[in-house]
Amino acid sequence: MHELAITQAILSVVLEAAEAAGARRVTAVGLTVGALTSYVDDSIRFYFELLSKGTLAEGALLRIRREPGEGRCQTCGGTFLVEPPLLPACPLCGSFDIQIEGGNRCLVECIEVEDGDLHPGGEGYP
Ligand SMILES: [Zn+2]
Repeated sequence: MHELAITQAILSVVLEAAEAAGARRVTAVGLTVGALTSYVDDSIRFYFELLSKGTLAEGALLRIRREPGEGRCQTCGGTFLVEPPLLPACPLCGSFDIQIEGGNRCLVECIEVEDGDLHPGGEGYP
């Protein structure tokens, strides 16, 4: 259930940014979730909906993008995609000396807000 903690962190980032911008409502949040994290999209959505109730982000659409993991071989310099379960060795030369360079993080990419004062009538907003 560690999605609860990450979702709380995501929501606090979103709300801080929205309040700083003077937004009235958050309409969408773009998230990047690394393929090597064990976060489950549906759990994040579930907690987000739960935790955002009564906040500026209530009802915001979550767009979750999966970021693939990339491994770099320290022996031959080759790079390759890494998906769980982790490869124990470089697929190119067989070396075990590999470094993972991405896919193990979760971050808020973008926050879309709506401000009735700035966009009366909502023109241009489908
Ligand atoms: Zn290699």
